[in-house]
Amino acid sequence: MTTPTSVAATTAVLPAPVSTPGCRDCVGRSAERIASYRAGDPHALYEADRAAAANGPSAHVHYAARGDQYVVVQPYDGEAR
Ligand SMILES: [Zn+2]
Repeated sequence: MTTPTSVAATTAVLPAPVSTPGCRDCVGRSAERIASYRAGDPHALYEADRAAAANGPSAHVHYAARGDQYVVVQPYDGEAR
């Protein structure tokens, strides 16, 4: 009996994207992930907003359906670091 090769084995595991196409604050820039908060936590958005405010005017919050979380991001120009 032979074991079939799994096609899923070629799927790369990528980090969750933090730049959201169409985000007015990111406007096509890459963004660095600063922190994330589980959306199931009733204080998550408040905490995420606070973290974004503490990181300067360009930091802001994305909602990531993948993982159901609020992600605090800091957009930056240029290539990914
Ligand atoms: Zn954004």
